[in-house]
Amino acid sequence: MVAKILVASVSFCNFSIKQKPGEILKEAGIEIDISDKGKALTETELLSVIEKYDGIIVGTDPMTPKVIQEGKNLKIIAKNGVGYDNIDLKAATAQHVYVTFTPGAVEQTVADSTFAMIFALARNIVLGNIAVRKGEWPRIIGTDVSKKKLGIIGLGRIGKNVVMRSTGFNMDVYAYDPLIDAAFCEKYGVYSVDLDTVFKTCDIVTVHAPLMESTRHIVNQRTLSLMKPDSILINTARGELVDEQALYDALKEKKIAGAAIDVFSKEPPARDNPLFELENIILTPHIAGYSSDTLLASGMMVAESIVATLKGEIPPYVVNKELISK
Ligand code: NAD
Repeated sequence: MVAKILVASVSFCNFSIKQKPGEILKEAGIEIDISDKGKALTETELLSVIEKYDGIIVGTDPMTPKVIQEGKNLKIIAKNGVGYDNIDLKAATAQHVYVTFTPGAVEQTVADSTFAMIFALARNIVLGNIAVRKGEWPRIIGTDVSKKKLGIIGLGRIGKNVVMRSTGFNMDVYAYDPLIDAAFCEKYGVYSVDLDTVFKTCDIVTVHAPLMESTRHIVNQRTLSLMKPDSILINTARGELVDEQALYDALKEKKIAGAAIDVFSKEPPARDNPLFELENIILTPHIAGYSSDTLLASGMMVAESIVATLKGEIPPYVVNKELISK
C-alpha cells in the first residue's frame, strides 16, 4: 500500500504511535509523517501540507472547509477521540472523505475524571495540597457528595457513565437531553427534566453535551444565576459550552461555590486568563479523557479505520454515515 498520512493528534504522536496502533500502521506499509509541534496545528499550517496526504489523524486540529478542499488526496480524517466539532462534516462528506471517531474508548475515563473533579472540589483536595506544601495546616471544611443532587446536561455515552458511577453515592440524578434515552432513565431512576430545572435543583451540575450552535454558551450568565450558592459546576466537554466571563463573575461574586474545568474556549488558555486568579476553581489541561488505557483503545480504533480506508474498504466507526450508503 503506497499511501501517506499525517499524524497531527498530539496524543497519537506522543503515545499511540509508539504502541500497537503505530505498529499496525507501519505493518500496512503506510508512510507516516508525525507532527513535531506538540500542540494542535493551525489552519495555515494544515493548508500548507494537507495536499500531500491520503489521510490525517487529528485531535483538535481545525479541519475547516478550506483545509478539506485543499486536501485533494484525502480519503479519511480520523479523529482520535469522540468530540469531532473541529471537523467540517459537510465539507468532508461533499468530498467523499470519511470522518471516523472512537466511540466506546473514552467514556469510562471521562466519567472517572468527572467524579475526580467533583470530589476534588467538594473535599478541597487541591487547596489542601497547596496549603500543606506551603507549611500551612488549614482544616478546610468540605461538603459531602453522597446523597446530593447531580445534574447532567447531555445524557450520552459519557453522561450515562457518570450516572452509573453516581449510583454508588446514593445521588438523585436530574438530566437534560433533547434526545433523552427514556429506558436508561427508567432503569437508573434518572429524572428527565428541562434545562433550567437542572440548574435550579442540583448541587452539582456537569456538562456532557457536544459543541454545536445550540449548545454554545449553554452555561451562561442567566443559567448560572439559577444555580444555588453552594453548588458546583464541572465542564469536561468543550470550553465553548461555558461563557468563561460569566463563569468568572459567578465564581468571583460567590454566586456558585466552585467549578472544575478541563476544557477552555481557547486551548491552551492565555497566561492572563482571569480564571487563574480564582481559588474556587480547578483547572486541568484537557486531560479528562487521557489515560494510557483509553489512548491505547482509541489509537487501535484509529489505526483500524486508517488501514481499512487506505485498502479501499469502508472503515469502522464512520461519523458521516451518508457516505456508506452512497
Ligand atoms: P454523545 O454523542 O454520546 O452524547 C452527547 C449527548 O448530548 C447526546 O445524548 C445528545 O443528545 C446530547 N445533546 C445534544 N444537544 C444537546 C443540548 N442542546 N443539550 C443537552 N444535551 C444535548 O457524546 P459523548 O461521547 O458522551 O461525549 C460528549 C462530549 O464530551 C463530546 O462531544 C466531547 O466534546 C467531550 N469530550 C471531552 C473529552 C475530554 O478529554 N475532556 C473527552 C471525550 C469527549
